Amino acid sequence: MSTPDWQSLVRPNIWHLAPYRSARDEYSGTDAHVFLDANENPYNRPYNRYPDPLQRELKQQVSRVKGVPVGNIFLGNGSDEAIDLIYRVFCRPSKDNVVAIEPTYGMYSVCAAINDVEYRRVTLEAHFSLRADKLLQACSQNTKAIFICSPNNPTGNAMERKEMLRLCEDFNGIVVIDEAYVDFQREPSIVSELSAHPNLVVLQTLSKAWGSAAIRLGMAFAHETVIGFFNKVKYPYNVNHLTQEQASEMLHHIDDVEKWVHLILDERPKVMRAVSELPYCKEVFPTEANFFLARMTKADALYNYLVERGIVVRNRSRVTLCQDCLRITIGTPAENTALIAALRQWEG
Ligand SMILES: *Cc1c(COP(=O)(O)O)cnc(C)c1O
Repeated sequence: MSTPDWQSLVRPNIWHLAPYRSARDEYSGTDAHVFLDANENPYNRPYNRYPDPLQRELKQQVSRVKGVPVGNIFLGNGSDEAIDLIYRVFCRPSKDNVVAIEPTYGMYSVCAAINDVEYRRVTLEAHFSLRADKLLQACSQNTKAIFICSPNNPTGNAMERKEMLRLCEDFNGIVVIDEAYVDFQREPSIVSELSAHPNLVVLQTLSKAWGSAAIRLGMAFAHETVIGFFNKVKYPYNVNHLTQEQASEMLHHIDDVEKWVHLILDERPKVMRAVSELPYCKEVFPTEANFFLARMTKADALYNYLVERGIVVRNRSRVTLCQDCLRITIGTPAENTALIAALRQWEG
């Protein structure tokens, strides 16, 4: 798609919004040393000061690690914040709609409901694959965004790159590609397509491979115009000081992340093989994430049995295309062994 008509995509109230300007927005130079502009307490350093509203230092680091210019980066309170902002920036409540694959991550539909935006589900094909033409058919004049998750949660498969790019080409709204599990997939990230596709928004997070779900740091990579609107609408200090500090620490330890990803990818086929060999397991689905989906004969009963044994997996048996399926995250070798031992003892 050539440059979108931003004004027709963005909600009129957001287009015209005069954003809140904090003390830290008004003054962002480096020369001053007496800060009496934000009614902060001068004691209890460093927690007495408001954090940088635009997380400039952290973005420099993210930029280096991800190979994306600083101007194309938004950081939020988890990727969930970016998902919500997509609705709040682009979708007029009770008028606009979004289209999404089904099954997928639950937050897209929850945020749609909260924002009073119609959510159109397009069921995936065989092998949970994506067909761009079916999603495009589901769109109307008022479709503002298409949500794709790749590798997809809960199915684990990565979507075909060609189909995702076709959406970017042929849809004249926002195409969101949620890459929460990108570090586990075979292909490199789709962020390399950002400059060619101004309507593409790529979501990533420190919550999975980076082992930092507790700190809540999500990333959105997009055209600078989209980033500008996210910044206009977000809470002024959406990423707190402790999170910025810890995220920065993690970005200095990419070697740890790579080590964890290797350990998990090494364990994954072992667990999948053991599960597939269980007499009551019907199918184990291929995955490019740190979890996999397995179809059982009696998923509910098995789920309850595992809970009794102190092991919690995700019961997805009531989700479209996932009848009798459990979603199993790869844990440490000891955790995986405990799971497999418990599964082998089930007499359901
Ligand atoms: C886990 C997950 C996220 C992460 O959300 P955060 O708010 O960053 O923790 C995002 N998208 C998908 C598909 C996920 O599975």
